[in-house]
Order: sequence, then C-alpha cells, then structure tokens
Amino acid sequence: MDIHEYQAKEILKSFGVTVPQGGLAYSPEQAVYRAQEMGGKCWVVKAQIHAGGRGKAGGVKVCNSDTEIQEAADGMFGKQMVTPQTGPEGKGVYRVYVEAGVPIAREIYLGFVMDRSSQRVMIVASSQGGMDIEEISAESPDSIVRSIVEPAVGLQDFQCREIAFDLDIEASMVQQMVHTLKGCYRAFRELDATMVEINPLVVTGDNRILALDAKMTFDDNALFRHPSVSELRDKSQEDPRESRAADQGLSYVGLDGNIGCIVNGAGLAMATMDTIKLAGGEPANFLDIGGGATPERVAKAFRLVLSDDNVQAVLVNIFAGINRCDWVAEGVVQALKQVQVDVPVIVRLAGTNVEEGLKILDESGLPLVSATTLNEAAESSVAALRDHMAKKNK
Ligand code: ADP
Ligand code: MG
Repeated sequence: MDIHEYQAKEILKSFGVTVPQGGLAYSPEQAVYRAQEMGGKCWVVKAQIHAGGRGKAGGVKVCNSDTEIQEAADGMFGKQMVTPQTGPEGKGVYRVYVEAGVPIAREIYLGFVMDRSSQRVMIVASSQGGMDIEEISAESPDSIVRSIVEPAVGLQDFQCREIAFDLDIEASMVQQMVHTLKGCYRAFRELDATMVEINPLVVTGDNRILALDAKMTFDDNALFRHPSVSELRDKSQEDPRESRAADQGLSYVGLDGNIGCIVNGAGLAMATMDTIKLAGGEPANFLDIGGGATPERVAKAFRLVLSDDNVQAVLVNIFAGINRCDWVAEGVVQALKQVQVDVPVIVRLAGTNVEEGLKILDESGLPLVSATTLNEAAESSVAALRDHMAKKNK
C-alpha cells in the first residue's frame, strides 16, 4: 500500500526526521488559509498523488503570495495529473499540501528498500538527488552509495557516518545525517514498510538537513498489525478493480488482456497466466481466490472478473489439495446461477475427487467447457474467446 507525501512526512517526523512545516488542504481557499496560518514569505504548493515526478508535471509550485497560492492550487484540484510514474490515465488530485519554502543548498537522494539478493534492507543514496535521479543513476551508476543493514544488529552509527562521508556531508552536520538515517530505518522496520524514499533530502543554506519529499510503501500482508497505517489508505489513488478485490480479501491485479482468470494459489495463478500467453491469448487479470474456494468466494471472483468490460472469456483453474473438486464444482455451479455470465467459461479441475467434480459440472446443464490439463484449458479458452468475439462482431 502506498501513502501520500504529507502522510509519510508525518510518520517520519514522529521517528525524529526533520521535515518542513506544512498543512493539508482540500480546496484552494484552504490552501491560502494554511499558508497564512504558517506565516512566512515563500510557500510550495504540492499536489498529493500516489506518484513521484510531480515537479516536472506542474504538481509542485513555488509561490510568493496568496494569489499565487490560490492560482497554483486552482490549477491542480480535480485534475488527472500525468507523470512518468502514473501511467497514461494519470491520478486525480483531491488534496494539496502547502509547505514552507526551503532555501536549498544541496539535494541528496535517500532510499531504503528490500534488497532481494542480500535478503536485507538496503540503503541507497546519491549526492546528486532531485528530479533527475533516474538519469544520474543511468549515466553514472558509480555515484550511487549502497549500504546493507545487518538485521541482527540493526543500523549502526558508524555505518550512518560512513554514508554521510560518502555523500560529502560537512562534519558539523554528520550527526544530523545519522539521526535522519536511523529515524528512517526505524520507521521502515517498525511499520513493516517495503520502501522509504526521500528525494530530495536537502541540506539548507543555514545548515539543516530536511526531508523535502517523502514516499513510503507498506507490506499489505502486515497492515493488520498497523491500524494507524492502514487507515491512511486512499482509494481515489487505486485501480477501482483492485480496491474492490482487496475489500473482499481477494488478491487481484488488473491487466490489459481479455481472458479472465479465477485460480486458487498465487503460483498456480502465475502459471495459468503464462500458459494463456503461450496459447496465444492475453490474461485480463491475476486472481488468487485463496485456499478455501467456497461457492461464495467463487461467486465473488466471477463478479469481480466480469466487472472488467474487456473480459470475453473466463478460465477457472482450481487445484484441490486441501479442498475437494466436488465442493469447488458445486461452487462454480452455484456462482453461475447467481451471477449473469454471458461469456464462455472454461473450467479445469485437478486433485482430490476430480471425477465427482467433473460429473457435477457435466450434469449442471450449464454451458461450461471442461478441460483436463492446463495446456488444454488455455487452448480451449483462446479458441472459445475467438469464437465468442466472432459471433459478437457479426
Ligand atoms: P516530485 O518528486 O514528485 O517531483 P518533490 O517533492 O521531490 O516532488 O518536489 C520536486 C522539487 O521541488 C524538489 O526536488 C525540490 O527542488 C522542490 N521542492 C519541493 N518541496 C520544496 C520546498 N518545501 N521548498 C523548496 N523547494 C521544494
Ligand atoms: Mg521527489
């Protein structure tokens, strides 16, 4: 799960990271009010969307008066902002953050990520942070500083100082840098984050180190342990199909194809998508309905998959290990009686009680295509899809 910049800053602040003063606004008028409340002469109005790259897309505006704030916010509210990180449809702006303008001397990149090869938290930093970090990491990869945290001992002070020296932080500010690094690391660990990114972390003209931008991503599977984090979820920033699935406890990822997939188990779901591709088709989604494929869950899954207008065929692929094929077959039959399905449905069952399961499907009188192997199921899906499209286009 992603959160907004202002939320990430609030969290990091509670872990001792210094951030500029700021206030959230839901309208241009409120944005002006926030600036007046804060005082000062220079403010930055920042669109709150779950994506970076806002600076170059007009989502970060430096303002020196009430009128400028009003205009900047007016230009952002209600817009679909497109940045290199949003995809072509963009993300809607419904909140802006008004922040004190900071006199920047240097911009540093600082990131905390899960490094799969070392299986550790890795700190990635660059002395040349800011809006061009992607180009810098491509052109001069050697300028990137990396440091791995040993989980048994956690992030050590000497390690933080080493990073500070590598980034050419002035001696008088090294302690501030150590404090910042340790705060981010604690936030990452204690809240089960999978990413903390501060770009830019700035050194100011008056020798302060401040997080000017902040991005945090959390492990969805650990959200139940952090109600204060999980309530920060903003559905306006998510794919509506995916938020609906998450609300129903289904793992769903929407894709661009037209063959809907209903599968139990993440590995089997991946294999199903691969096999569809191999057969010349395009999966419309990844969907893992979990171990207990009860009729209710199967019906929910059908509703979800069919809510995608692109879907022109559905492949149900269930392996019954703990489950039983006859129960699953009952589930599919009940689901198809509850949910109006007017695209071909291909069912492949394997595992415990498969014969009984297939019998139930056969005897249901429903227009189902059953398949024995996954290859056969994928090929039948692609063939059924072509037939269906041809009939529709007649
Ligand atoms: P994004 O990464 O989405 O482009 P940032 O929050 O990093 O958005 O802002 C882009 C740039 O705007 C920063 O690199 C920084 O130069 C400038 N900026 C952002 N916030 C402030 C601020 N409070 N004061 C001064 N400059 C800022
Ligand atoms: Mg940024």
